[in-house]
Amino acid sequence: MHPFHWVPARGERHASTDPRPYGGYPEGTRVTTLCQQLMRAEVGDIPWLWTTCRACNAEAHRLVGAR
Ligand SMILES: [Zn+2]
Repeated sequence: MHPFHWVPARGERHASTDPRPYGGYPEGTRVTTLCQQLMRAEVGDIPWLWTTCRACNAEAHRLVGAR
């Protein structure tokens, strides 16, 4: 279990440590991302295909102790 969740927003997949409801963040949920921005979550199949935010990816690796 990782301390963060992936969330699509603004055209990229970001990660957030905000509490997430079962099933995922509802559309429009304000989340603070690991790249230190406040965004509104998006839902759907296409947003999950967006590329991963580099800053969030780096921070996510740091959180799990990976490099
Ligand atoms: Zn990000």
